[in-house]
Amino acid sequence: SDQPLDGAVALVTGASSGIGAATARRLAREGAAVALVARRGDQLDQVADDIAKLGGHAVAVQADITDPDRAEDAVQSTLDRLGRLDVLVNNAGLMLLNPALHTTLEEWDRMVSLNVTALLHVTHAALPHLIYAASTSPRQVADLVNISSTAGRVARPGSSVYNLTKFGLNGFAESLRQELVGERVRVSVVEPGTTDTELVDHLSDTVRDAARRQVAGIEALRPEDIADAICYIVTRERRVAVNEMLVRAGDQT
Ligand code: NDP
Repeated sequence: SDQPLDGAVALVTGASSGIGAATARRLAREGAAVALVARRGDQLDQVADDIAKLGGHAVAVQADITDPDRAEDAVQSTLDRLGRLDVLVNNAGLMLLNPALHTTLEEWDRMVSLNVTALLHVTHAALPHLIYAASTSPRQVADLVNISSTAGRVARPGSSVYNLTKFGLNGFAESLRQELVGERVRVSVVEPGTTDTELVDHLSDTVRDAARRQVAGIEALRPEDIADAICYIVTRERRVAVNEMLVRAGDQT
């Protein structure tokens, strides 16, 4: 059958749950072979099985990408097992909400090491392969999709370092976008609003309750809604470059 991403290989970080898992399933449905990267191997196997049952192809690549060697290995093992890399979705991320006065440096460090440092390590290892894929694929294009957030555009109390990582990601992506235009590697940013995932499970009980109260009246986005946005971006023909998509929940101000 003719699928838009037939022959393409995608790597999705944070593919064991939430937006990453939904994105992996969706890209596989569009014909891509998908490398699933995260720490929880059993969850990755589950997603890979689901994809196989639907007739797609995915491989689990268990890795803690905050370890620089493991970040590089994750890209290399995608190349070894699937042969190329056409689409990188930088999705793995952590949001620990707390006012600066009441947080620990450890919480800040954890967000920076995943949302920034790990993302940089995966991206650096992937770039030459994305450039090569763009020059050799029939579609003549490759994609680097970065999952930012509404928190990459709007700062709020309690999310200072999360804001720092996502605002920073937007700037990084925009600079890379301009650098890579000539290489036919499209660089994009997706900014989800409130989405129903495990993201808030990592908060302490009180902060989580407060975060839930804040979004109580609204119907959250589903991970599939964001996967849909990512799918739109990476299935465009090469004359089209969707640089940025801000997708809020319908009830979200
Ligand atoms: P989840 O918590 O469900 O997903 C986070 C993913 O990151 C998991 O697959 C997790 O897998 C993975 N991950 C965490 N630490 C590591 C690590 N050290 N190495 C490799 N993978 C890791 O939340 P979401 O799906 O919501 O989050 C995905 C992205 O979406 C994040 O960047 C988040 O900031 C962003 N976002 C989410 C919004 C929301 O409302 N949910 C809104 C805006 C943006 P594992 O634990 O198995 O390693």
